[in-house]
Amino acid sequence: MTLTDPPQGYPATDPLVTLARQLLIEIGEDPDRSGLQETPERFARWWRDFSTYQAGRVETHFPLSTDGQTVVVSDIKVWSLCEHHLLPFSCTLSIGYKPGSHVLGLSKFARIAHRHAHRLQIQERLVRDIAEEISKVAGTDDVAVIGRGEHLCMSMRGIRTSALMTTSVFEGVFRDYGPARDEVIKFALPNG
Ligand SMILES: [Zn+2]
Repeated sequence: MTLTDPPQGYPATDPLVTLARQLLIEIGEDPDRSGLQETPERFARWWRDFSTYQAGRVETHFPLSTDGQTVVVSDIKVWSLCEHHLLPFSCTLSIGYKPGSHVLGLSKFARIAHRHAHRLQIQERLVRDIAEEISKVAGTDDVAVIGRGEHLCMSMRGIRTSALMTTSVFEGVFRDYGPARDEVIKFALPNG
């Protein structure tokens, strides 16, 4: 094996490998220099892993009556890719809902969040997609999702405004300003 061989087991015929070599050339690099020789294969593998991510089953739920309690799961951190720049953004999510006929297992919130993050996204749609799936899986319209994101496409370019962006979706009982929405915001943003 020489230094120019691809990482073991990675198919050199993957078109993403060719694309990455071309990208290196276009930005003025020598793809054959020491340090970059395996970069196209690593690039290809990373993109394939990202785009075929499996978050696991999300169907699990438990029959339970919660007498109208609000359930909030907060501080779920996901990484996604901004579809405008193909650069990462992190998003810290809080998901609240009032269970209908059943409650969701705790791990399901994170799985749903990660699954929707593992594609090209904008933060507004990420939050919306998660809210819609929680609503469907939990069988309730009463869903709130709040996301706080930091976008490398903003922070790396040194824009002097805050690089933190907050987006939210409030549906069902959380849609109108009032006690239900206040409660879910208090749980979601305890220091906010
Ligand atoms: Zn961007």
